[in-house]
Amino acid sequence: MKSEKPKLLLHTCCGVCGAWIPELLSKDFVVDLYFFNPNIHPKDEYLRRLEAAERAAQVLGLKLIEGEYDPKSWLEAVRGLEHEPEGGKRCEVCFDFRLRQTALFAKRQGYEYFASTLTIGRNKPARIIDAIGQKWAKEFGIKFFSGDWKKKGGQVESDKKAHELGLFRQNYCGCVYSMR
Ligand code: SF4
Repeated sequence: MKSEKPKLLLHTCCGVCGAWIPELLSKDFVVDLYFFNPNIHPKDEYLRRLEAAERAAQVLGLKLIEGEYDPKSWLEAVRGLEHEPEGGKRCEVCFDFRLRQTALFAKRQGYEYFASTLTIGRNKPARIIDAIGQKWAKEFGIKFFSGDWKKKGGQVESDKKAHELGLFRQNYCGCVYSMR
């Protein structure tokens, strides 16, 4: 029987984010995970985070799609912003880069909505991510589901879930500049 719930593509950046948020969204949507993170450096770290996201998807019974890992195109997009602090202009470009591709892929694959786990991050304001999501939603004719996952103890819940599942937890945001 066809599900009544709309299909949503959830951009996820790691296993910690990929554990609690999709479980919450699955009450109202048919959720697939989209791992599109060419910002992550080095490749070993990328593979560790991908593996954790795959494990979370497997436990939750969700499909995970890996996007293209092309760090060169991401580095090109943030050129000139290397010395920005975390939470500054480089991060806005980074959000934009990842959400544009998520919206485009979701539209092409017939999803009604797209969303992102990014707002769970301490330096990732929901108002900026929402504005970017809405911009690409309008551009590609798809809906963006806004969610400030930091609210209502989202970070604690995500950490708890990741701990239960024994998932890899990163200790820097992701790009080479955030390793400093
Ligand atoms: S610090 Fe994080 S959000 Fe900012 S540019 Fe680097 S990976 Fe992207």
